[in-house]
Amino acid sequence: MGRETLLSLLLLLFGGLAAQPLVLWPLHPMDSAAPPQRAERQLWIRLWLPVLPILVVAAWLGGWALREPDPVHTRFDHGVLVVACLPFAWIALRAALRAAWALLHEPAELPVCTAGLWRPRVLFSPFFARTLEDAQIAAAWAHEQAHVRHRDPLRIWLAQLATDLQWPWPSASRRFQRWLEVLEYARDDEARRLGTPGVDLASAILATARRGAAAPARVGQRRAALDAALLGQGVALQRRLARLLAPLPEAAPQVSPASLSDAQALGVVLGVLVLSCALGATYGPQVLHVFFAWTWSV
Ligand SMILES: [Zn+2]
Repeated sequence: MGRETLLSLLLLLFGGLAAQPLVLWPLHPMDSAAPPQRAERQLWIRLWLPVLPILVVAAWLGGWALREPDPVHTRFDHGVLVVACLPFAWIALRAALRAAWALLHEPAELPVCTAGLWRPRVLFSPFFARTLEDAQIAAAWAHEQAHVRHRDPLRIWLAQLATDLQWPWPSASRRFQRWLEVLEYARDDEARRLGTPGVDLASAILATARRGAAAPARVGQRRAALDAALLGQGVALQRRLARLLAPLPEAAPQVSPASLSDAQALGVVLGVLVLSCALGATYGPQVLHVFFAWTWSV
């Protein structure tokens, strides 16, 4: 079998298996009093934790492939390997198709949203803007500009992809929905810190919700996976409006003193991947020899 073909099959099987324990691992509940900026970062990390073992396995197999001749001469049961890969191949294919669909289709027809993966821009329906007061328009604009600054359409797309790789476990979907909700809180707070009154933002959100309720949904129309809307997705509207009408909490650092910064975390992940690649190059052939022998015995 060709080396790259075998590498792909092994990545599907071992990567898929490696992701399962962390998807099912019960994480302790989030601190509900945590500032949204910090909670959003923690939830983002939780979304990606189960994907990390897939990257480690990919690096390990990459190390193994560096030392393996092409084609691979080791004998193994092709049928057993292909059948074992099928469930994970379906998950990967489904995730890739959904990610491609989100990229290729037109932005959803929302009154206000931020769209665009590489160059995010605010889309504001002129018909909807005519129904708003100036203060509401300014508040909605400030909220969407916060989405633009953080490239949220790209982050939402990546988070959806990470969630789809953990399909069909409901815990992954719950983490994604919770992250989307906290993301809206964080952008609300950022707009308010830059001078937008919470009450104006709350009334703009209410107007958007009323507009959504009044507009009949077209058959087959679904919310775009990567548009950061003013209304948000899966948001408990009442809770959000109550936050906006309450005094703005004190700004807290995004990263707690005990946790790693983004650069430090990236350095740790890269270090683990390099180590995994080296281990794959050193011990990969022996470990996979045992696995290939096992396929004969099944
Ligand atoms: Zn938003």
